[in-house]
Parts: sequence; structure tokens; C-alpha cells
Amino acid sequence: MHAQKIPIGILGATGAVGQRFLSRLSGHPDFAVAALAASEKSAGRPYGEVSPWRLPEAPPPGLAETVLRRAEPDLPCRIVFSALDAEAARELEPRFARAGYLVFSNASAHRMDEDVPLLVPEVNADHVRLLPVQRALRGWNGAILTNPNCSATQLVLALFPLHRAFGIERVLITTMQAVSGAGYPGVASLDALANVLPDIPGEAEKIERETARILGRFENDRVVPADVTISARTYRVPVENGHTESVSIALSKEATEAELLEAWREFRPPRIAALPSAPSRPVEYVDEPHAPQPRRHAERERGMVTWIGGLAPCPVLDWKFTIVGNNTVRGAAGGSLLNAELFIRTEAAAILRDAS
Ligand code: NAP
Repeated sequence: MHAQKIPIGILGATGAVGQRFLSRLSGHPDFAVAALAASEKSAGRPYGEVSPWRLPEAPPPGLAETVLRRAEPDLPCRIVFSALDAEAARELEPRFARAGYLVFSNASAHRMDEDVPLLVPEVNADHVRLLPVQRALRGWNGAILTNPNCSATQLVLALFPLHRAFGIERVLITTMQAVSGAGYPGVASLDALANVLPDIPGEAEKIERETARILGRFENDRVVPADVTISARTYRVPVENGHTESVSIALSKEATEAELLEAWREFRPPRIAALPSAPSRPVEYVDEPHAPQPRRHAERERGMVTWIGGLAPCPVLDWKFTIVGNNTVRGAAGGSLLNAELFIRTEAAAILRDAS
């Protein structure tokens, strides 16, 4: 625990994920917001003028008057959370890392770089061991650590306990993704309202590749992706927040319904559960009809849980179920914050220190 809070900056503070960061960092035990940055068009202007507050909870005090800065590595902090557009992140995040900042990023730009950790702390905290590799290869004083695509995050949390116990060989996944997943203002309302938009650009590939990488193992200074075949289809649906996914899996070892439920129930890594943003259990099975639902479940447990329901035998693969997760929290700002807490409160920080 730190007597003094660690100053942090938010890059992309005006967006959908940026606002979730601001909300969750308000009163955080470890971090204090020291700088807010966005694009050139917003820099130099007060936050309230550029970005109306869109979350149901009250905005942090004084936010409306805070003047936005340019996303340049001259911010008064050493840690930045990045909620930048992928395009902007591609160029800006390495500049920050080179200048000595630790960048905890939501953007897809560097997630699949071989030397960048792609973390879901309950699943693959040991992949943080890529950090010394990254520093040695790039000669940076700082580093980039990423969290996965929002749909992949909730999926991997549901799959990991089953993969660990029974081995998962194949996965079919169909997403029904909320409009907030496209940022703000995001999808045009005339496209989104009372409609379904198939094939979100780039999303299926991200789900397939990132999930296999997160379930993979760290070996000889690299991550070897898990040998799981994943096929994803993605759809944008008229839901404000919270992604729903229909999942079918084939297992290597036979398992009963009771064994699957038990694997989810006992999934509670104690080291991670002690972190301030961690839920008491990362996955919860909802034993009710027509559950889980984004409207009823996405915001529960401060948006950090993957909700599972409808477990049933699958006549094509072995088992099928439905999951719901909060895309802007667990799938974005909350996931990134958990990575940063893992980093400063566990031995992950020592890994980087030892490499300096
Ligand atoms: P968003 O609402 O469109 O916000 C994008 C942010 O990036 C804004 O603050 C914008 O500032 C800033 N920005 C854009 N270009 C910039 C530049 N050249 N220099 C500096 N800042 C720039 O998007 P979002 O939904 O919050 O997503 C942010 C990132 O998280 C994206 O990479 C996205 O893929 C990822 N992500 C999103 C979700 C989700 O559910 N929404 C989930 C997981 C990951 P201005 O306001 O000044 O333009």
C-alpha cells in the first residue's frame, strides 16, 4: 500500500473508455489523476466544454474545469492509462514508453506485438515476464502493457477455468455487442436503432487471436498461444452497454454439468482477488431462466464480473452457454486498472525493476 497516491495521466480522457477511467479513479486507493489528455482539437480547452459527462454516476469534482492537455510525453506522472484511438495509440504509446512512462493500454495497436504483455490478471499474470524482454529489445525505460479486446476479455474469463480443468479444443462464439463498444459518438443512431449490424470490422480476428494468446504459456521469453481453434462472428446490437456472447465448446476431457459449474465456482485466484478493482469472483453463474442479460447484469459487482448462464449440452460440440460482460469496464478501463494494480501491488513491479 502506498502512503502517497501515485500520479497518473489519462490519454484519450474524453472518450467512452476515458470517462470510465475517470469514474473508477475517483477515490482510488493507489492512484490520483494528475493529467488529462486528448487530441489536438480538445487540448487547451476545459473538459466540460469538450466532453459532456455521459455516465449515470456524478462526475469527479472539478472535472468540468480541468483543462485538457496534448497527448505528449511531458505529463507530470510516470504512469499513463491509454484510452486512445488505435490509430493514435500506434504512434503515441511507444513515444511515451520510450520517454520512461509505463503505459497501461486499452487500444489494439500493440496488443499482439510479441514482446507486449496482453493481460487478464486472473488468467495469465505470469505473462508480465515479457516486460524485461520488451525493454531489452526496444531499449525503453518505460513499457507498454495491454488488456484485451472487450469481447475477448469476458470470453477468456469464462473459458480459462474450463480449459485448466478439462482442456478446450474448439470454441464457437457469436457476439451481440453494445453500441458503447464503438466509442462516443460511435455508431450512427440511424444504423444502430432497432437494427443488428453483422461483422464488426476486425473484431472476430481479435477475439480469435487474443484469446489463444492469453490462454497460452510463457516459454523461452515468449508466449506460445494455446492450441485452441476459435471461430467468432460478431454483431452490433441496440444495447447501450454490456456485450452478450453465445459460446459453444469442445473439451479434451469429458466433464459433467456439475463439474463445469464447480470449475467456475472455485475460480478465485486469491492474489488477484485482493486487488482493489478485483471482484470477489471473476465469473458468476446465474442459475435463472433468461439470464444473464446486459441490462440486469453488466453493471453488477462494479462491472468487473463475467456473468454466465444457460449451460446446456451442445449436440454439435460438447457444451454451450451464454455470457455477459461490461465492455467499457471489465473489457476496458476496469481491466486496465486491474493490470496497474497487479503491477504496483505484486511482484510484477520487481520484474521490471530487476531488468532496469
Ligand atoms: P472514443 O470514445 O472514440 O475515444 C477516443 C479518445 O481518443 C478520445 O479521447 C479522443 O480525443 C482520443 N484521440 C483520438 N485521436 C487522438 C490523437 N490523435 N491524439 C490524442 N488523442 C486522440 O473511443 P473509446 O471507446 O473510448 O475507446 C478508446 C480505446 O479503447 C480504443 O482504442 C478502443 O478500441 C479501446 N477499447 C474500447 C472499448 C469500448 O467498449 N468502448 C473496449 C475495449 C477497448 P478527442 O475527444 O479529442 O477526439
